[in-house]
Amino acid sequence: MNKNGIKRGASCRDDFDPESILPEQALEKIFAAIRPVAETESAPLRSALGRVLAADIRSGINVPSGRNSAMDGYAINAAALPAGGAARLKIIGASFAGKPFPGRLGPGECARIMTGALLPEGADSVIIQEQAEATAEGIRIGAAVKPGANVREAGEDLARGDRVLAKGTRLSPADLGVLASVGLAEVEVSRNIKAAFFSTGDELCPVGEPLADGLIYDSNRYTLHGMLTRLGVEIIDLGIVRDDPASMERAFQRAKDEADIVITSGGVSVGEADYVEQTLRARGEVKFWKVAMKPGRPLTFGRLGAACFFGLPGNPVSVMVTFYQFVQPAIRKMLGETLAPPIMLKAPCASRLKKRPGRIEYQRGILSRDKNGRLAAHKTGSQDSGILSSMAAANCFIVLPIENDGVEPGDMVDVQLFHGLV
Ligand code: AMP
Ligand code: MG
Repeated sequence: MNKNGIKRGASCRDDFDPESILPEQALEKIFAAIRPVAETESAPLRSALGRVLAADIRSGINVPSGRNSAMDGYAINAAALPAGGAARLKIIGASFAGKPFPGRLGPGECARIMTGALLPEGADSVIIQEQAEATAEGIRIGAAVKPGANVREAGEDLARGDRVLAKGTRLSPADLGVLASVGLAEVEVSRNIKAAFFSTGDELCPVGEPLADGLIYDSNRYTLHGMLTRLGVEIIDLGIVRDDPASMERAFQRAKDEADIVITSGGVSVGEADYVEQTLRARGEVKFWKVAMKPGRPLTFGRLGAACFFGLPGNPVSVMVTFYQFVQPAIRKMLGETLAPPIMLKAPCASRLKKRPGRIEYQRGILSRDKNGRLAAHKTGSQDSGILSSMAAANCFIVLPIENDGVEPGDMVDVQLFHGLV
């Protein structure tokens, strides 16, 4: 065991670095260092989608507000039917949704009723129209009806005073509907945060310009833009920053003044043109870790003034893996969201996967059904951290534990679906 509690692998083939910490330890340290935003704001219901509730919501009303019919049929008093249930009833009126029947049912009487219409007084249940035979005088019932059948009780969905949604909920389409059902036109949510990001590297060329020899297009700003947009945060794109201390200083200064969280890619390894860590050290506070994961071993985390800072590795797949494993939960926590651990599925792996013990690996895969209808995962080609197309083709991470030393077809693997990563 090293000081971080990681078991030392026995093999000389392994990939273990005694300086590294586990991803879950890195996440714990990140959570310990960030504070959820304290400010809240009122958001009209439609624009509250994806925002995080700043307080519990309680219902001021019963939903539904009154006892009503779940079906189209006839409102009857089932308790008063003769034993066995066979009866003839006279129709004395009709109750429509929004236009209730004002009368009261007497013995031998029923009322036509539509879905959502209030039950008339004297009725305890609804017989669906397919089970009642219409006659010239009214209806004929052949069998007993259970009192309460096809009736929705007042407050059956939400009773007055019930907690409708908890503080820390990221509002989904269903949540918007639930809030509307209790009559709320606006809700209090935590204020949004601003995320500034830039790419670092002398080799980077912005899209839209011709590519000179030896350069590559800057793709990281686009994956970051996409992942941040999905989280709903306000985005400040600071462009490409060259590998020199002065440019880096300027970018850090701008980001510090404007953002709650600053994210960079590249320049965090130990190469000679890696200035991110050095600049952060001068301007803020650095926590630099090697995380026992692949891709994404070097990760810089720290503070830049009031903002929290993530220096992600430069390789395009590493950016996405470290974003999803660390930045995304950090942002959600900053917004006050109550987080559940990611859902992991178990599935047989259809591919052979190469791996050395010593790091947790997030390989890129596709989870689908095989020809027998069973779930199976297979990898999306090369797993090099520079191969972004393997990420684009994937719908999941195949998460291989630290001690794993390779997967044979048919072995069970843990799968983290991209769907649900927000
Ligand atoms: P670095 O961490 O700066 O050493 O970069 C690692 C690798 O990722 C190098 O091959 C870089 O060219 C590549 N890389 C860095 N930033 C980007 C970017 N914004 N878009 C695409 N590739 C990048
Ligand atoms: Mg670089």
